[in-house]
Amino acid sequence: MNSSCTTTTTTMSPRSEAMQKGREKLKTVPLYLEEDIRPEMKEDIYDPSYQDEEGPLPKLEYVWRNIILMSLLHLGALYGLVLVPSSKFYTLLWAYIYYVVSIMGIGAGAHRLWSHRTYKARLPLRLFLIIANTMAFQNDVYEWSRDHRAHHKFTETHADPHNSRRGFFFSHVGWLLVRKHPAVKEKGGKLDMSDLKAEKLVMFQRRYYKPSVLLLCFILPTLVPWYCWGETFLHSLCVPTFLRYTLTLNATWLVNSAAHLYGYRPYDKNIDPRENPLVSMGSLGEGFHNYHHAFPYDYSASEYRWYINFSTFFIDCMAALGLAYDRKKVSKAAVLARIKRTGDGSHKSS
Ligand SMILES: [Zn+2]
Ligand SMILES: [Zn+2]
Repeated sequence: MNSSCTTTTTTMSPRSEAMQKGREKLKTVPLYLEEDIRPEMKEDIYDPSYQDEEGPLPKLEYVWRNIILMSLLHLGALYGLVLVPSSKFYTLLWAYIYYVVSIMGIGAGAHRLWSHRTYKARLPLRLFLIIANTMAFQNDVYEWSRDHRAHHKFTETHADPHNSRRGFFFSHVGWLLVRKHPAVKEKGGKLDMSDLKAEKLVMFQRRYYKPSVLLLCFILPTLVPWYCWGETFLHSLCVPTFLRYTLTLNATWLVNSAAHLYGYRPYDKNIDPRENPLVSMGSLGEGFHNYHHAFPYDYSASEYRWYINFSTFFIDCMAALGLAYDRKKVSKAAVLARIKRTGDGSHKSS
């Protein structure tokens, strides 16, 4: 961690300079709102007027508790990997289903429903998503959404909790192992979160978060294989719990690291987020990240619908059942206009 965190200096790399120029250019353009398809929420729209103050980074304050727990978890997951070949078929199936459901709790839940309000969900679906989200244990929905709205509004500045200009490791996991930059607290604290404060289910999860996580992320996935089909305790603990949890974490973190560093920018070359199909595979649809930052209000988080995007397929199935509705999708014309105006020329229409 040291290497990537301490390499951040106040001198600008050529890439940072290019970003800075991009930002200067953006300042002349009003907020990128191609169409007002989601008038109820604006807190996730990129604000190019916010820029970092000059000066060195404050000294990193390590959160040793998180560093130790995260290291132990990853060791447990590595051991889980060793145990995979000797696991029972149902244990692996259970781990896989738990993975997919946890990821839905993040992608379709915390991300597309609660952070961006890209669609609406009726109570049974919201109940499912809040349970799935708790299984994924990535901070409660309220905190996750506040960090995520700050990430979109202040992308690649110090007010972005996982600012990818601080390197791969910082944006992947390092940001969870150190105290937040003061700008994150200051700007994040000012975001309008009234919609989530008013949602009883979200506040209920926040209130009982610790015991619910203990039950849904750790106890339940371990006990089921152990009790129901006689898996060994060690296999049950290391495969569906440690390994599955670690994989869901890393699949999500790759959106913040790899999808901000590697890939094309067909929709907007002035911003760092990129299209990364590999990241979409792991996160079940969250890797079309240049599109997503250009159009954060699109429920598919991609120009397309079901292409490497199980989350969109899931939301569409829920809509067919009447549990999801009011899905926001940016029009083809608006997407094409944006590609023409700010794309890097890699889109097939270019
Ligand atoms: Zn987002
Ligand atoms: Zn992003």
